[in-house]
Amino acid sequence: MEKPKREYQKGNVTVTWNPNICTHSGICARGLPNVFKPKEKPWIQTEGATEDEIVNQVKQCPSGALGYRLAR
Ligand code: SF4
Repeated sequence: MEKPKREYQKGNVTVTWNPNICTHSGICARGLPNVFKPKEKPWIQTEGATEDEIVNQVKQCPSGALGYRLAR
């Protein structure tokens, strides 16, 4: 069964994560270990970096599991 998509807020940025397509490559956790913490709950802790840092890391997700939206 499909798992629900999750959302995490950081100021004007909403980070989205689709657990169904995450390949657990660990690229996010290596790039920003203060935000992406696979062993913790919630596993994305947006207080650990700036909005720009988070967006830049989200763009490097190879599977497309991570995404983001900007509030206007
Ligand atoms: S970089 Fe993307 S695919 Fe890799 S663990 Fe993080 S969310 Fe999953």
